[in-house]
This record gives sequence, structure tokens and C-alpha cells, in this order.
Amino acid sequence: MGSELIQIKVASQAGLPGAPRSSSGAAGGAASFAAWGLVNERITANGACGVGRTPGPTNADPPSETVATAGTLKTFYIETFGCQMNVHDSEKVQGVLMARGMTPVENHHEADLVLYNTCSIREKAAQKVFSRLGVFRKGRSGAPKLIGVLGCVAQQEGERFFQRAPQVSLVCGSASYSKLPELLDQLEAGKQRVTGLSLHTKECFETEMTRRDNPFRAYLTIIEGCDQRCSFCVVPMTRGPERSRPSDKILAETRRLVDQGYAEIQLLGQIVNAWHDPSPARLSFAELLSRLAEVPGIRRVRFTTSHPRYFTSDIVQAIDANPNLCDQIHLPLQSGSTTVLARMLRGYTREEYLDKIHGIRKARRAISLSTDIIVGFCGETGEDFEQTLSLIKEVEYDQVFSFKYSPRPNTLAEGSRDALAEEEKGRRLTELQELQRQIQMRRNQALLGESFEVLVEGYQARLGQAVGRSTTNRVINFPGRPEDVGRYLTVKVTSAGPNSLVGARPGSADLRF
Ligand code: SAM
Repeated sequence: MGSELIQIKVASQAGLPGAPRSSSGAAGGAASFAAWGLVNERITANGACGVGRTPGPTNADPPSETVATAGTLKTFYIETFGCQMNVHDSEKVQGVLMARGMTPVENHHEADLVLYNTCSIREKAAQKVFSRLGVFRKGRSGAPKLIGVLGCVAQQEGERFFQRAPQVSLVCGSASYSKLPELLDQLEAGKQRVTGLSLHTKECFETEMTRRDNPFRAYLTIIEGCDQRCSFCVVPMTRGPERSRPSDKILAETRRLVDQGYAEIQLLGQIVNAWHDPSPARLSFAELLSRLAEVPGIRRVRFTTSHPRYFTSDIVQAIDANPNLCDQIHLPLQSGSTTVLARMLRGYTREEYLDKIHGIRKARRAISLSTDIIVGFCGETGEDFEQTLSLIKEVEYDQVFSFKYSPRPNTLAEGSRDALAEEEKGRRLTELQELQRQIQMRRNQALLGESFEVLVEGYQARLGQAVGRSTTNRVINFPGRPEDVGRYLTVKVTSAGPNSLVGARPGSADLRF
């Protein structure tokens, strides 16, 4: 989900375009949970581009360890922190580097170029950057290497990075990724510090090649940036203005993904349903979903993150009409109090949000619902918080991603005088999470005996256990075989916990929690 924070390290070759795949979409052989290099660890502006104007350092002393590197950037290592959009940005950056003839390596010690794609959505995530950069500093031989910082912290810190982390040679925000080949050329030509920090762009980051890490579900960005200016959120300042990709490019990429063996795609955007078609076709978001569902070979389409303000009934109608549009909607609430929502500048009230939920609940298929909630936003009273809890009880979400409010630089809410104590935020978060745990337990228990089609995404040899995901995005563990990975199988639920289900294939032994 938009809020799902993932730390991802450089991937193995699985899922590379051209990697061997079966007709069912498996990346050949027994992929293990880690086979994609995915470490699913729940952790949980600016001016013109500073490139190529003057040789040498920009506004600080040159980093003592960086030397001219003409023609020496042969291997790279990329590490990513943050949401699915960051993960997919890194996949595209890897494609750019490989198109230059560079080879990915699994260990930063072995890399000529180390890239760190960063997240600044909350302070904790942003704080990790400098300690991690320290670890990258030396190659195994002690030889100097080039280090670049990408993503939201890169954009936020800009050229200040060179003072705080002199080992860094490249600082580039996501709105400037199209300039990466040019920036790398300059580094190879011996320039010591380069930046891509302009937010003044109407372009999306289009790549000839993308190195997808997940061999089963392909991320596909349809809209970049954000124009919403929610008072708590740093994204408009780090990712730049909203830019939509034309429908013909999205459809063509989807057809290419099918050719590569993908049957499941996940559309990405900070506000995915604010997508509007800049091509003459002028498709609506719901029409785009229907057109994608019609692409031969596409079995599942997901999309995230939707904003309630743009969530229209034709999206539900499209899901109803197309069984391969997944029964899953992530609709961030942020707060159940209309007063807090107004201060957050979300653009909807509690009642309007609930109207959208009732529309989703009327769909012909039972659509699974998840949300994001921020607790302890500035001035949130006990009564406001109670309203969030009561809305959670009313909606009964299948999953909630909840966070303590974290003041972010350059946002409207930064420096607000009615901040809550961290202790109180923590208390509210615990209460909310306990409520949601009980709801999830109850909802999952109600699925006992039901059968689901799952896409098998992994196999743990030690436990003889496969893990699959239903169209409603529920995780189901069941006794399986390595060759199940990548297949769509029917599994019957035999027991349930708050976060996952356990099941069995017809005729196989049960697994128990
Ligand atoms: N663009 C999406 C939207 O507006 O609904 C959300 C994307 S954001 C990457 C994921 C989630 O992080 C948000 O929905 C929100 O719950 C949370 N978040 C964003 N800014 C935050 C902040 N300053 N403090 C705590 N949580 C925050």
C-alpha cells in the first residue's frame, strides 16, 4: 500500500526481462521468499538542475575520496527504502544503469557505484540515511567508490548533502531521474559532484528497460508527483508536480509485461486515481482500468494509492464488470474527525468518506478494504481520536497502516504550536492497533472453510510451506511444493490469525498456527 514501507536490496536475476518463465508466470524453478532479493521488513526545492555548469565542487570542498572515474563505472549496487513507488523507481534506475552496460552486484563492497534511494515521509525514515551512507563508505579493498543518493531525502537536502556526507558524489530527486544518464556521464568524465534537483518538470521517468525485482507482480507507474498539498505531507515538495503518463504508453507497457510472463500488474501513483489521460484518447481512470483488464493474458490488476477525493463510483462499476480487477481497494482515511481532516487539507469530511465506503460495500463482489491513518496530528483531541476509532469500528477494514504524526520540513503543519506529546501519540497508536487487530482476527476467522484462488509467491523448503496472495490481497500459507511458485492455485482456509490465513490444497495435510 501507499504506506507499506519496504527495505529492498539489490535483486537476484529472477524477474529480469528475458529470465526463464513458465506459461503460468513463474520465474522458473523454486523461488524462495528471498529469491527476488526482496527483504520485506515492515519498518515499518529548489532551482535549476545543478548539472554541468561548472566543473568541480558546487558549494563545498571536494570529497577527498572521490577521484576521476572515466569509464570505470562497471558495477552498481542499489538499496531502496520506502514505498512501492520508490521500489519501482529503483527498478527503473537499475534498467538505466544496465542499459549503459553496468552490472548489478549483490554487495555494496563490490560496486563501483552505490545508490541509496531514500524516503522522507516520516522523520525516522529520513534519519536512517546518514548512518547507512557511513556503512557504504569503503569498498572491501578500501578503494574509493562513487556513492549517490536518490529519492525524497536527496530532494529535500539538496546540495547540503555534500557537507553532511562528503563521500556522496551524486544527489538526485525523483523528478530528475530522466537526467541520470547525463549525470553519470559527468561523473565518468571526472566531475566530482553532480545534482539533479529541479522540480520544474512535466516529464515522467520513461525507461527503455526496467529491471523488475518481483517475478510475479509488475509495478507500473501511471502518475508521478502530487499536487494535493495535504498539510502533513512532504511528497509535493520531494516528488514535484503531478504528471500523468498517456494511456497508450501504459497499455503498451502492459502488453510487453504479458509478453515477459507477467499476469499481475499493480498501477502506482501517489494519488493513482487523480490520473488523467494526456493522450487524445482522454480515458478516465475507470476506463483505463477496464482497458487494462481487457489486455489478453492479464489476470490481476491492482492500483494504489487512491485518494477519497477522486474516488468515483465508476471505479467500483469497472471492478464489478471486470473480474480481473482485484477485489481490493486501499483508501487512506488519515482521520475519522472532520475537524482534523479540514486541518489536514484532505478535501473530504467523515460523512463524505463513509459515503464512498458504502458505495464500495454495495459492489457485487466483496471488496477488501484497507486504509492509512495518522494518529496525534496537531490539535487532535481525545474526541477527535474517538471518532477515528468509531469509524474503524463502523468500516471494519481488512488492514490498517497506522502512523504517529511526524512533523515534516516545509509542510504547512510544520511548527504547529498544538503538537501532541510523543507519549500520547504512542498511547493512541497502540489503542488503535489493538482495536484493528481484533477486527482483523474476527474478519479472518469468518473466512474459515472458504476457498480462494491464490498466486503462489514463495516457498519455504524448511517448512514445506508455500505462500500465496488472494485477489483481496490476503496472505495464505499452505503445504506446497517448490514448483507451485508462480502458479494460481485454489486453497481452502483452515485456520486464521489477524495478519494471515492458513490453508490447504484439496487432498493435502493441514497446516496449523
Ligand atoms: N499520497 C497518498 C495519500 O495522500 O493518501 C499517501 C502516500 S504516503 C507515501 C503514505 C502514508 O504515509 C499516508 O497515507 C499517511 O498516512 C502517512 N504519512 C504521510 N505523511 C505523514 C506524516 N507527516 N506523519 C505520519 N504519517 C504520514
